[in-house]
Amino acid sequence: MNTFEMDRAYVAGTYKRFPVEIVSGKGSLVTDVNGKEYIDMGSGIAVTSFGIADDVWISAVEEQIHSVQHMSNLYYTAPCARLAEALCTRTGFSKVFFGNSGAEANECAIKVARKWAAEKKGPACSTIVTLENSFHGRTLTTLAATGQEHYHELFRPLTPGFTHIPAGDLDALKALCTGGTVAAVLIECVQGEGGVVPLDPAFAAALEAYLKEQDILLMIDEVQTGNGRTGKLYAYMHYGLHPDVVTTAKGLAGGLPLGACLMSQKVENVLSFGDHGSTFGGNPVACAAALSVLNRLTDSFLADVEAKGVLLRGLLEGASGIQSVSGLGLMLGLKTEKPAAEVVKTCMENGVLCLTAKDKVRLLPALNIPEDLLRKAAEILRAACA
Ligand SMILES: *Cc1c(COP(=O)(O)O)cnc(C)c1O
Repeated sequence: MNTFEMDRAYVAGTYKRFPVEIVSGKGSLVTDVNGKEYIDMGSGIAVTSFGIADDVWISAVEEQIHSVQHMSNLYYTAPCARLAEALCTRTGFSKVFFGNSGAEANECAIKVARKWAAEKKGPACSTIVTLENSFHGRTLTTLAATGQEHYHELFRPLTPGFTHIPAGDLDALKALCTGGTVAAVLIECVQGEGGVVPLDPAFAAALEAYLKEQDILLMIDEVQTGNGRTGKLYAYMHYGLHPDVVTTAKGLAGGLPLGACLMSQKVENVLSFGDHGSTFGGNPVACAAALSVLNRLTDSFLADVEAKGVLLRGLLEGASGIQSVSGLGLMLGLKTEKPAAEVVKTCMENGVLCLTAKDKVRLLPALNIPEDLLRKAAEILRAACA
């Protein structure tokens, strides 16, 4: 059996994979089993922040693997503490809980919100409001948080206590809040899986003001938008928001599983001994990798990400067959005349890997993608869209 056949025979059929087997890569170039090279415009869905087999990243991981690869959370290890310190210093948050994925980071945020509200306002105050068209993960609770019906259908009953409002509809939120049962609002600044849809800044500001007034937590899911993806360390920084909780994962460790829930001073002591945990969470190898990623996300590097985003957008906007370009930084969505899946297929044939999100072509290249590769990928994309 070749890899395709073996995978289809033995791996649960939850993924509709492309008929490509990647065997190696360097930076933003990857090579398949037949020796064909591709420009990677997906980064493993915003995960490989510095591309494939990056030398600095490899050194950080290797050094830690040779020291200690795992000890559990029963003992102290330096990478976990140092990463938490670095995240807090860079953002002004007070405490971090580490898990292994975006869904787990959001689960932690939801537990923080539920416990905080129960203690402060009583057990009836437990509702988490999220936006329609959002995506927050695949566990039964984060599915309940996800504001897209089609993910829910086959898996009811979901965790209760979630309500969705249309993005931009503050009145809908106000109506929900009259009963005093809303603990928190969880939003994405740019909806990723929902089709690369940025939140309206005026709504974001009005939402924050209202939540502060009502003493309801503002929680931001930066699983996809975080860690430099949009040209700032976190996307909420573009919006000038002051969230109580931020969650992140995907690009945090540049290719190893790591999720984080960042807690502001207001909620830093909500979780105490035994309230939450994770066997792998804060794993020293993942944290060493993340520390190396975070150290490279300097202000000048982030300005470069923003500039590359502007460049890529400029190369695509107005091109034949491209109706619009949405997104922030190096997280872009193309509304194309041809079906997105067809564009992705043509690109793949011509040596560019890109993604879809709903009806859009989604681009999430490595943050350090060289400009010449970005230009070459844009050229192939334009040809595929025309
Ligand atoms: C990918 C994603 C998640 C889920 O992350 P996993 O690591 O797959 O659990 C949650 N929220 C957002 C915004 C995402 O993009």
